[in-house]
Amino acid sequence: MDCIFCKIISGDIPSEKVFENEKVLAFKDINPMAPVHILIIPKEHIDGADMLSDSNADIVKDIMLAAKQIAQSFNLDNGWRVVTNVGNDGGQTVRHLHFHLLGGKKLNTELA
Ligand code: 5GP
Ligand code: ZN
Repeated sequence: MDCIFCKIISGDIPSEKVFENEKVLAFKDINPMAPVHILIIPKEHIDGADMLSDSNADIVKDIMLAAKQIAQSFNLDNGWRVVTNVGNDGGQTVRHLHFHLLGGKKLNTELA
């Protein structure tokens, strides 16, 4: 499959990994929007949050627990944000489900 995040999982495209377990990988965003900007992705390819269902949505729990652990490892004690963009209107440019973990500064309160 021609998916850049699947290629990052396989190692065909290099990345700066910050967390990994059996189901989840997290790495630094190549174009950071905040001092800490991590992408957290399932190792199983899912197009986006619009493709979640009863059969695959358990991964969201794993991703959120990873987000909490990564936030702690980056000492984001003042707070942080998790965002997932979906489809064209949501601004999703990579069709492999991913959650942005943002922190390290007072984040913009305007969400949309
Ligand atoms: P989206 O806009 O789909 O929500 O987010 C995609 C994110 O992936 C963007 O923030 C973009 O900077 C990041 N990105 C795209 N290609 C690569 C890559 O090859 N490596 C890394 N580390 N990040 C990437
Ligand atoms: Zn993929």
